Amino acid sequence: MHTVLLLLTFLAATVATPLHAQNVTAHRVQAHVEYLADDAREGRGVGSEGLDSAAAYIAREFARLGLTQPWSDGFFQRFEISPTATAALAHTGLAGASVKNVVGILPGRGKLAGQVIVVGAHYDHLGLGGMGSLDPDSTGVVHNGADDNGSGAAALIEIARLVRTRASGERRMIVFVAFTAEEIGVVGSTHYVRQPVRPNDSTAAMINLDMVGRLRDGKLLAFGTETALDWDHLLDSLNAEYEFDLHGSGDGWGRSDHQSFYAVGIPVLHLFTDTHEDYHRVTDDADKINTAGVARIARFAADLVWALATRAARLTYVSLPRPEPIAGGSQASLGTIPDMTESPGGVRLTGVRAGTPAETAGIQAGDIITRIGEHEVNDLYAMSRALAAYEPGDVVTVVVKRGNRMLEFEVTLGRRGG
Ligand SMILES: [Zn+2]
Repeated sequence: MHTVLLLLTFLAATVATPLHAQNVTAHRVQAHVEYLADDAREGRGVGSEGLDSAAAYIAREFARLGLTQPWSDGFFQRFEISPTATAALAHTGLAGASVKNVVGILPGRGKLAGQVIVVGAHYDHLGLGGMGSLDPDSTGVVHNGADDNGSGAAALIEIARLVRTRASGERRMIVFVAFTAEEIGVVGSTHYVRQPVRPNDSTAAMINLDMVGRLRDGKLLAFGTETALDWDHLLDSLNAEYEFDLHGSGDGWGRSDHQSFYAVGIPVLHLFTDTHEDYHRVTDDADKINTAGVARIARFAADLVWALATRAARLTYVSLPRPEPIAGGSQASLGTIPDMTESPGGVRLTGVRAGTPAETAGIQAGDIITRIGEHEVNDLYAMSRALAAYEPGDVVTVVVKRGNRMLEFEVTLGRRGG
């Protein structure tokens, strides 16, 4: 049913050339996401056969595209999760698990060939839930992770396809990496920067695609624009053709694989279509992916990667301090879905989860949270810090801005994941 509908749309739109190209990419994205987020992949949890099948699928695509294998035995960077990795300690049973990044290379040419641009996307997800899932009682249920991060892995393959057909000239090497074990603490990217295919100081930039499957109203987030002086100008000039509602912001310390690269001195950028109510839930499925949106982002990212690979000068790296970890192990939660773009004077909500403390109290999508209890909330970081000061069950006053009004709600905080 789905495929037929898509095909009809596809046929109807083949007249205009750019749209045609975009639809071909969307069609491929759909196929990738449907494979990666199929129940048969078992949620791509670390240690599962489903994750291995996903790795094999990506390697097959890399081979088909004619990417170069970094190692004599192929595209896989195999390693075991160290028993001392914090991720493994927190996830009993995963220490010693055999995992692999999938790495394909488009060689450089001429004077720039010794430098590298890394394009990455993690391909693992939460498996059968439990740790990391936001659905209560979902342990044992397949978490397909179509958006997180079937969408990014699909985009990665399509970016490789788009870039490899570009006219040859002087260019940096482009290294495409599908990372494993991101969900348990960016394990795959941490391993990669310890054993990169070329030394880290030759890597000029890293682009991360994590959750790019829910493009709404053209809104695209680019985290990490503060990690190099040149990002804003570069993104704006490329976006003139795409007209995304593009929001660039932030340092390189996000909770995804780009952080591993920023930590070793590489300018980074994370493309993201924002959170949604299916995030880390069993409902993050393939039929909810905006495949045309992923295709548009892949084309934009391909232009970006090509610009990075061919520009004469390297980006000017900016070093920013890692934010203090939020103290305390509090699990207190409101049940809100924050808009990850910066909203002036608070945290705007894209939604409120059903049955959560926020919904029960009357907080709505579109509200801007400005205060939680004694704590002023200017941004997401302040909001996390404020919640960390309380425990589940505490009753706090939450102040929100709704339109021109300031409203107060008494909220009994719940438990994260509960
Ligand atoms: Zn995730």
